[in-house]
Amino acid sequence: MKNIANQPYRVLARKYRPATFEQMIGQDALVQTLTNAIALGRLAHAFILTGVRGIGKTSTARILAKGLNCEGAGGPTMSPCGTCNSCKDINEGRHIDVLEMDAASNTGVDDVRDIIDGVAYRPVSARFKIYIVDEVHMLSRSAFNALLKTLEEPPDNVKFIFATTEIRKVPVTILSRCQRFDLRRVPVDVMTHHLKAIADSEQIKAAANTLVHIAKASEGSVRDALSLLDQAAAMNADEISEQAVLDMLGQANTDLILKILEACLNGQTAAALDLFATADACGAEPDVFIADMLDNIHLASLIAGGAGSSDQPEAQSQMLKAIATAGIARLGRAWQLLLNGHREIKDAPDPKTAAQMVLIRLAHIAPMPTPAEIIKSLTEAPVGAPAGQTPPAALSSEAPCTEAEPVSTQIVPTQIPQTETSPVETDIPSQLANEKTSSAEPVFSSLQDIAISLDEAGEKILAARLRQHLRPVSLADGKLEVQIDGDVKQENFLADLARFMSQKSGQPWLVSQAAQGGGQTLAELDSQADEQKKQAAAEHPVVAAILDKFDSAEITAVRPHNAKDKIHSDDEVKNA
Ligand SMILES: [Zn+2]
Repeated sequence: MKNIANQPYRVLARKYRPATFEQMIGQDALVQTLTNAIALGRLAHAFILTGVRGIGKTSTARILAKGLNCEGAGGPTMSPCGTCNSCKDINEGRHIDVLEMDAASNTGVDDVRDIIDGVAYRPVSARFKIYIVDEVHMLSRSAFNALLKTLEEPPDNVKFIFATTEIRKVPVTILSRCQRFDLRRVPVDVMTHHLKAIADSEQIKAAANTLVHIAKASEGSVRDALSLLDQAAAMNADEISEQAVLDMLGQANTDLILKILEACLNGQTAAALDLFATADACGAEPDVFIADMLDNIHLASLIAGGAGSSDQPEAQSQMLKAIATAGIARLGRAWQLLLNGHREIKDAPDPKTAAQMVLIRLAHIAPMPTPAEIIKSLTEAPVGAPAGQTPPAALSSEAPCTEAEPVSTQIVPTQIPQTETSPVETDIPSQLANEKTSSAEPVFSSLQDIAISLDEAGEKILAARLRQHLRPVSLADGKLEVQIDGDVKQENFLADLARFMSQKSGQPWLVSQAAQGGGQTLAELDSQADEQKKQAAAEHPVVAAILDKFDSAEITAVRPHNAKDKIHSDDEVKNA
């Protein structure tokens, strides 16, 4: 880095600390809300700023204080001039009416006593007396209580600006008296852009991608990002190389990670472990490394899902496309496995060993056929022929799952008998219970109609009681007769039901109780139908073969098959 000679070096995080709201990045919502509040003259007495460390809470507090007291404007402004005495004094941290306190080291009642006493006096020179309390959640309960009285009736010329990293630890009584602002983590692209601008103005040369790595590692904190840039610049005389940054961050480079992913998805365990050894030798942290693999699985899944290409360098983009051909189902499985692995690594006594285990497991499982492929192989093979010999859909561009027509359309559900009601003792009640009519205009001709109408009206309790406890006896001409099964508060229940039905249908309904003669409850019919569907499903040759093949397989649900719900769609790959 070419530092301007003979000037004391100021770290970037300080040098580029925002002095105005325009200079703040990634906090558009906050700026907009404050702008509106100032324009409408609706400024709160107290503000609370929350967000992770290094995200700009203190900077925001100071800019806000400047805006409130700037002498350049006739009143509070979003654009403090920065040149008046008030602005200058606040910039230098010596404004007599703007008091900063760090609650982390001043937690007690006595510490807030100064504030409470001072509030009684008018500001010396400024429009407002402003108290900035950092890490406010650290205050003791008694300190909060002491402060609360002041917050309840603050004088017009006093403002409080609180900042905290842990908003949950701030008592609700305090929160309810503050206007709250959440500072967001700065998105990677915004951060990268910001870093680029600063690198340019500091004449720091950085190789492609280095700033992206730094932006990602900063996890949305501008201060951290600038500190990292400082470090990287200090270590590299000419240009910051990608490898230098990755070493500094303890990360493996993207090419290596993509190669390992590819090896794993192809089932090449040995190759994956070799490549991992290389990454390890470069100092890659196992958990960061697995997190990077997750990132790249995500990118590949986006490509497989047909989302636009990312802004990766060409070579990496090609590799991601190759990985994407594994298909969404397989990538999803890899994601799940890596995610679990990532947690394990954090708990493991030896993270490196744990990471190796994760890779071995991934390489073992990734090439296995997906459920859709199993079904496909079973439907294509004559029933009874050895099934499950699906070719592992390795990373060829013609993954088996992409070719041929959709398989699942005639499989499971359509051949299963539709849910006709089972023979029931009494015909009428069973029909009553089961006929479905469109629920747009509630004409109640079955218990099911009423249940649906209740559901739609959000009457969950009534609906549940109806399903569980009502046995239909008759339903016609504004009269519903039911037998009640089990223990319900009957009177209210039936009266509530009658009221609901009358209101919904616009005609009076009478609901009465019979001693006997009721049909099955909706709940009983549902569970019967469910059982029948499962039985029918189990008899289907494909399902039977799957059940036979996998010991632990069981049918948990049978759903109607429609276009939205294609079993196969998970596995379609859109090659970019
Ligand atoms: Zn000013």
